[in-house]
Amino acid sequence: VISCKLGVCYCVCIDLRKKQTRVKVVIRVRPPLSADAKVCVSTTGDSKVEIFNHRNVRENLQYQFSSVFDKSSTQRDVFDAYVRPLLNHALEGENVSIFAYGPTGAGKTYTMLGTEDDPGMIPRVIHTLFQSLTSSTTCIKFKDSKKESHRVSFSFLEIYNEKVQDLLNPKETDLPIREDAMHNIFVAGLTEKTIHSFDDFKNLFGPASNNRTVAATKLNDRSSRSHSIVQLRVDTFRAGKVFHGKIYLIDLAGSEDNRRTGNQGIRLKESGAINKSLFVLGEVVDAINNNLPRIPYRNSKLTRLLQDSIGGSCHSVMITNVAPEESYYYDTYCTLNFASKSRKVVNSSVTSVTDIQPPEPPKSLKRTNSATQVHST
Ligand code: ADP
Ligand code: MG
Repeated sequence: VISCKLGVCYCVCIDLRKKQTRVKVVIRVRPPLSADAKVCVSTTGDSKVEIFNHRNVRENLQYQFSSVFDKSSTQRDVFDAYVRPLLNHALEGENVSIFAYGPTGAGKTYTMLGTEDDPGMIPRVIHTLFQSLTSSTTCIKFKDSKKESHRVSFSFLEIYNEKVQDLLNPKETDLPIREDAMHNIFVAGLTEKTIHSFDDFKNLFGPASNNRTVAATKLNDRSSRSHSIVQLRVDTFRAGKVFHGKIYLIDLAGSEDNRRTGNQGIRLKESGAINKSLFVLGEVVDAINNNLPRIPYRNSKLTRLLQDSIGGSCHSVMITNVAPEESYYYDTYCTLNFASKSRKVVNSSVTSVTDIQPPEPPKSLKRTNSATQVHST
């Protein structure tokens, strides 16, 4: 806008680019799985994570996040702080995505699914959603709740080797991802089941989970080699209008480097697809959080599917899982670099020498810290 006043020219620049809603990135460090395990990750009360520097063991690498869930954190802590607040948005017709990132064995499935005794984000989301829809004293507030009705439908799919597969009705076919005239992204032919209760969900989810593609790697017997995606459509009927919200709950495939897992043949092909889609996901998160004009959604199936649910006015959180044991050092190092906003070198109080010499990441996928800045909020 240029205006002239008394012969002086004022130039006011307005950035008309719409601001993207940032992807929140939080870290969760799981407890060591055995009492005598050598641990290489430490957390501080002020949301910092430290690991030793493999190039100089007298130094530590310190990463700052705005939220770190340490080994004593509970499923409820994570849910209440970062997941529950997003559910309101889905009921208002907005899209939400919650995903767990990290290497195999770091706690993604535990975080997303949990156990019978200690449920993770998926069961908590569905439970809380139905609790909110049926109760008037709810944790999710409704305006004029009596005048509203809702429909929740459930789908369950996986992306394996860049192929989209329906876990409620498994077939060999790769389902196409399409975009409608309103720029909503959908999977053509995907089964959607209306659910009325948490039990409805459980009855569908249990059998469908057995259809997941799991295969043994050197790291983990039941390593997940695919991205597992729960999709909930939440339609809210209010005052003659329908608000369409969508929630994605995603247990990503393991982010480990396939050279270390000793994969060959089909496993190597899988690893290539996994690495590529996670690499693109990192680029998408970077682009959103740095408000870049071009976001490379189309460069992988995973990000194409998420196009209407991450960035823009959508609400997303990436729960980055790390394992504390020294045997996971290289994966932890890569994962923290992937997720960190800032990293600095600090003096180490620990001076013991370690023989871990992690390999360099493959050149094609190498991400420097500056190129992978993902801002936590
Ligand atoms: P991933 O899905 O990333 O491969 P898992 O969720 O299967 O990893 O976790 C690996 C192991 O660690 C499992 O035995 C799981 O029960 C355990 N685990 C993970 N996170 C936690 C946690 N926060 N508290 C207790 N045990 C955990
Ligand atoms: Mg898993």
